[in-house]
Amino acid sequence: MVRLARFAMCLSCGMALGTPTMLASQTLCPSEGVAVQVLGSGGPRTGSDRASASYLVWVDGRARVMVDAGGGSFVRFGASGARLADLRLIALSHLHPDHVTDLAGLLWLSDAARVEPLRMVGPSGAGDFPAFDDFLQRLFHPESGAFPVLSGVLGGQGRGVRTLPNTIDVTHHVSSVVFEESGLRILAHPVPHGPVPALAFRVEIDGLSVVFSGDQNGSDPAFVEFSEEATTLVMHLAVPPRTSGFARDLHATPDVVGQVAKSASVRELILSHLFAHDDPADLEMGVDEVRARYNGSIRVAEDLACYPVR
Ligand SMILES: [Zn+2]
Repeated sequence: MVRLARFAMCLSCGMALGTPTMLASQTLCPSEGVAVQVLGSGGPRTGSDRASASYLVWVDGRARVMVDAGGGSFVRFGASGARLADLRLIALSHLHPDHVTDLAGLLWLSDAARVEPLRMVGPSGAGDFPAFDDFLQRLFHPESGAFPVLSGVLGGQGRGVRTLPNTIDVTHHVSSVVFEESGLRILAHPVPHGPVPALAFRVEIDGLSVVFSGDQNGSDPAFVEFSEEATTLVMHLAVPPRTSGFARDLHATPDVVGQVAKSASVRELILSHLFAHDDPADLEMGVDEVRARYNGSIRVAEDLACYPVR
């Protein structure tokens, strides 16, 4: 219905090459209250209808927080009606490609979209994973980066709005406040994702809270504490039931996802980063296992769907 409304409005506002022109103020999320929009509900495998991990938190009609920027989030961000100028923080859970590969695309020409420096947060490094600030240097350094043309991101002469990166030391197993302004408070917490330095995030505003699990195996009781009584928990259902071995070290199985949601007493659970792209029956089985442990409200994420937080 919203899409129809958008199209109908654009019939009167102009067409470009047969494609409806999008207005920045048109969004799929409500103009009042807090909502989570899923930009990418898929996992690392390619699929026809799910981008890789990415989310927005909307507050009163503006996208204020972006969590992760996996492949496909660039186009979903545009389709969502979000504006770079409205973002207060881009929070990256970890540096697996399916969580970060559209970052450069989003930042390209970002200096034309906003003037205010853009705060970003990501994890410290280990093994195959550079620390977040080093990752940005490797991408955007004016001499040694992959995209010197985007060195404005680091304060250089190239394109891209200046960013203010914050690297969180995941070896300190404590929560830290990474943003606090105008009633919006965002915390980060290290989570176990095999050998990969990784973070979960908690966004708090107006007495409501949204927790993004990131990729993790669900084994740390401290994450349950971090998620305690969240209004909405977005948790990744990245592996099917009875997964074992290395994948189990990386990701929580559906029964663990359900147990975490139950133990944390969250009001609503959104399952995302879904392992099943092709066979809905597999996904259904996973969701049933979650439901066997957690009897609260469960939603299975769809790209661009907007979920009110209340
Ligand atoms: Zn991962």
